[in-house]
Amino acid sequence: IALMQRERAWVEIDLAALSHNVQQILSLMSPQTELMAVVKADAYGHGSVTVAQTVLQAGASWLGVATIPEGIELREAGIEAPILVLGATHTADQIRAIEHWRLQPTLCTPKQALVYSESVRGSVLPVHIKLDTGMSRLGTSWEQAVEFVQLVKGLPNLSIDSIYSHLATAEDLDPTIRKQQQKRYEAAIRACGYDLAGKHPRFHLANSAGTMVDPSLHYDMVRTGLILYGLYPAEHLRSGSHLPPASRLDLRPVMQVKARVTQVKRIQPGTGVSYGHRFVADRDTTIAVVGIGYADGVPRNLSNKMKVLVRGQQAAQIGSITMDQLMLDVSHIPALQEGEVVTLLGQDGNEKILADDWANLLGTISWEILCGFKHRLPRVSV
Ligand code: PLP
Repeated sequence: IALMQRERAWVEIDLAALSHNVQQILSLMSPQTELMAVVKADAYGHGSVTVAQTVLQAGASWLGVATIPEGIELREAGIEAPILVLGATHTADQIRAIEHWRLQPTLCTPKQALVYSESVRGSVLPVHIKLDTGMSRLGTSWEQAVEFVQLVKGLPNLSIDSIYSHLATAEDLDPTIRKQQQKRYEAAIRACGYDLAGKHPRFHLANSAGTMVDPSLHYDMVRTGLILYGLYPAEHLRSGSHLPPASRLDLRPVMQVKARVTQVKRIQPGTGVSYGHRFVADRDTTIAVVGIGYADGVPRNLSNKMKVLVRGQQAAQIGSITMDQLMLDVSHIPALQEGEVVTLLGQDGNEKILADDWANLLGTISWEILCGFKHRLPRVSV
């Protein structure tokens, strides 16, 4: 299988770009602030083990995953850095796995804290308290922080490593909700009797956008996902138009998606292409069949909308994208050969296609596009 890595279609992971992005992020942070690399969902489709090894080497000190199996995969690869499980875990089996693999859980409710305390077999388990300050997802309301923290402090086999929350709108130009969340977070921490500048427990609130827009959100640690992978959470953060010069980041996309042409053919006017004949040629057309499809992570809803880079030029994708293959109009490219490589995401010559371009065509976000590239495509580190 290793020999077939670049035979049909593959994802290229640029580890130098990843390290560069870590350096860029660190340049925004004070030396006392730690960087948690969010590597959940297989590092947003980039491959969590390779990404984790690279970012730890480049200066990240924590890893964030969503699920226990994601954490186990990192431990089985020999990664020793602290790993926070950002999702909720409740059952005795999950708690056994957390302890066995030295993962660190998020505690979202008093009930969950009690279950943990009853189930923990080792001496003291580090835990992370999650407060809901406005995301309305996991966590106990910031207004009940004092009772929650007091309860956990009273449980002898749990020790509070951090108290954290998550921002809902950090990439919005309007800072109102972000500032309200920050105010609630700080009020809750102070009500618990902690000093925000103190070292124990750790405090963390910022995702990628929060890290970029306001250093006062950094506290002891930031949790970045998207910007590690070289994409910007919003267009205005790419241009930096609303950021002070020192906060502008020069990020490099880490992932490129490539595939080979598997057949080239000429079709006549009136010929339909692919399932449903949703494209019908209106002239003599040269089409290329490419060996990548929706089972690989190319969303079918991009059918008849997306462009692909062929020899440094854009080529229109035509007809329905199928499970394993898609077609291009390559009439403008002379003598294209079977076996030539095309670029679905990435750069070829002066042309570039970003996950953001797909996201814009689909009315979604780049995070979802990246996560769509799962194990079917080989990942090649370059
Ligand atoms: N922190 C938590 C709790 C998350 O769920 C996520 C991802 O959704 C992140 C941090 C990282 O977010 P981003 O990719 O926007 O940096």
